[in-house]
Amino acid sequence: MQFDELNLLPHLLDALKELEYTTPTPIQEQSIPSLLEGKDLFGCAQTGTGKTAAFALPILQHLEPEGPVKGKRPIRCLVLAPTRELANQINDSFKAYGKFSKLRSMVIFGGVNQNKQVNQLNAGVDILVATPGRLLDLMNQGHIHLSKITHFVLDEADRMLDMGFIHDIKKILPRLPKNKQNIFFSATISPTIMELAGTILFDPVNVRV
Ligand code: AMP
Repeated sequence: MQFDELNLLPHLLDALKELEYTTPTPIQEQSIPSLLEGKDLFGCAQTGTGKTAAFALPILQHLEPEGPVKGKRPIRCLVLAPTRELANQINDSFKAYGKFSKLRSMVIFGGVNQNKQVNQLNAGVDILVATPGRLLDLMNQGHIHLSKITHFVLDEADRMLDMGFIHDIKKILPRLPKNKQNIFFSATISPTIMELAGTILFDPVNVRV
């Protein structure tokens, strides 16, 4: 299979061509069609499998038709990641695949001064990639509102739990709208993971690589 068989918009295919991606990886081939249909997804996949493009491409495609909203943009996609490194990588991927779109993505994480992040947030952003602690801090200070979220991704859920982020996640989840597309990735499966996934996903497609 080739990327151009996946019903992706031409500008996304152009971005992939520039990156010299020709063939979707197995996780991409299995996830992209269901995600384009708007289904929730439980993905069991490790880093290195191409899971970021598997969720980023359908999200960029969904957010595109509305286009950037004039003035201050509401955040429409939230991606939670356990570490600064992963959050940065995910944000870089959104920027690379969304190169020919006018959508704005940004990343926030702790351990650095928040002022620059707040200024960038105030300028308006469509896609926010965040680590849970800093997200909660900025939400509690009133800098971030998540009531317009249409797409939510929890990446590396098992690492989130290992790192003790479950309490933060449980505070964030109720602040998200009920009606949205939810995507959950974990490299391993355990009863705790299944329980967490059960609280987030509605009738998900299951993909395992
Ligand atoms: P990930 O598992 O999302 O961290 O991706 C692992 C690496 O594979 C990243 O460096 C991507 O840029 C690259 N990658 C993802 N999908 C493809 C693809 N279909 N063809 C070539 N490289 C890819």
